[in-house]
Amino acid sequence: MTDRTRWLPRAACLGSDPGDFDIITNVTATVPTPTRMDRMWDQGTICESCPVVRECAADALDQRDIGIVRGGVPVVANGSMAWRQMERAALTAMSVTDSPAETRRVWRAAAQRAAAKIRAERAA
Ligand code: SF4
Repeated sequence: MTDRTRWLPRAACLGSDPGDFDIITNVTATVPTPTRMDRMWDQGTICESCPVVRECAADALDQRDIGIVRGGVPVVANGSMAWRQMERAALTAMSVTDSPAETRRVWRAAAQRAAAKIRAERAA
């Protein structure tokens, strides 16, 4: 578990409206479309310039917060197994990254794979 008192004061989102980080997409009810994914993607933009993105992602892996952006990764509520695995992989990558922008590209690719897996499971 991270010590939030050591990194939270340097967070880029400090003082922001927490509502800006809420995720409204329910991926079990709806397979994410490119438009929805772009909206989720945009919500994490501030994280790309955050000096404590690694600490935030590591903390998110411990805390299991849902319905918000953590470490640049939208962590949805009620995600499928495939989707939760993708989120944890993305948060793990973010917790060690030196390039948040690159990791977000990796997240998008992982999210598209998760969406394809959800569609395949529904079609079976
Ligand atoms: S990574 Fe994003 S959510 Fe985490 S502290 Fe930084 S700006 Fe806030």
